[in-house]
Amino acid sequence: MINVTKTYLPPMEEYTSYLQRAYDKVWLTNRGELVKELEDKLKSFLGVNHLTLTTNGTLPIQIAIKALDLKGEIITTPFSYVATTSAIAWENCTPVFVDIEEDYLTIDPTKIEEAITDKTSAILATHVFGNPCDVEAIEAIANKHNLKVIYDAAHCFGVNYKGQSIFNYGDVSTCSFHATKIFHTGEGGCFITNDSELHHKLFYHHNFGHKTPTSFHGVGTNAKMSELQAAMGLAVFDHINEIIEHRKKAVEKYDELLDQTSLKRLKIRPGTEWNYHYYPIIFNSEEQLLKVMEAMNSENIFPRRYFYPSLNTLNYVNRNEMEISESIAKRILCLPLSAEISYSEIELIAGFLKP
Ligand SMILES: *Cc1c(COP(=O)(O)O)cnc(C)c1O
Repeated sequence: MINVTKTYLPPMEEYTSYLQRAYDKVWLTNRGELVKELEDKLKSFLGVNHLTLTTNGTLPIQIAIKALDLKGEIITTPFSYVATTSAIAWENCTPVFVDIEEDYLTIDPTKIEEAITDKTSAILATHVFGNPCDVEAIEAIANKHNLKVIYDAAHCFGVNYKGQSIFNYGDVSTCSFHATKIFHTGEGGCFITNDSELHHKLFYHHNFGHKTPTSFHGVGTNAKMSELQAAMGLAVFDHINEIIEHRKKAVEKYDELLDQTSLKRLKIRPGTEWNYHYYPIIFNSEEQLLKVMEAMNSENIFPRRYFYPSLNTLNYVNRNEMEISESIAKRILCLPLSAEISYSEIELIAGFLKP
């Protein structure tokens, strides 16, 4: 069976040697030494100032909305994983969708201003498949209208844009370290910001609001990462360069084999050092996609319709038509890609896509 992704598992003995440290200290959570060590390693690898690990990649989006005190309407993209929209709704704000750029699949900044009302408080956009949004245009609009910017950067581990981490753009970026992501801790995530005051607020929100064991800065929830998650993260992190290098070679192989076809592929924004996280292809029609998917499934190959459906069609949002996002969502398929996929598997998969 070949799945859309295969979780990278570090050698068992490397994982258990990190776990042993938690055992030796009899310390499983509440910011133990493994969480702190992983945070330090990630900050230096990524080149970011403030990064706090969390138990998944959805809570930091909710915490960012809370910490920035957002109310009313939040402008967002219809082309993302459901967590981007559900986090807005969960925090009692209203998602207002703006359609995407056809080539880059990220929110179209030329359509943002017409969606701004006196209730708009922020823009929450996703760097889709690790492809950066038009961050300069978004920043200019946010400054002009006094809006906050949050990036759902769940796919962006290791992505640089114009010489620095993509996580350094916007007021807050969030990432996911779910088992299907390029760097993972089983379940996990983080929030990143350059603003130390904002980081302080995000931090206490993620730990019940604690100031000391007996006093509180304010309201909070629990989004702490455990030592068990951090042990997996440390063991995976030791292999991160090989993981990215393997994916790069796999992507180049797909590119080479699919060059002859009429399939549209992801266009990476100029200035980006990409992380080769996903391999989406866009068919001319949904019918064609379904036919290819059925043929692959019958040979035990499982690509995934990602992202589908377009989020403006969810049953808890105000539905208005998003022509490009809806059209792409129907026709896009992510091909299997992992740190272990072989050239022969890629050749097999590409065989289903010959013109
Ligand atoms: C994976 C993902 C999330 C959610 O992350 P979890 O760690 O699963 O909570 C949010 N947004 C996007 C775009 C994702 O792909």
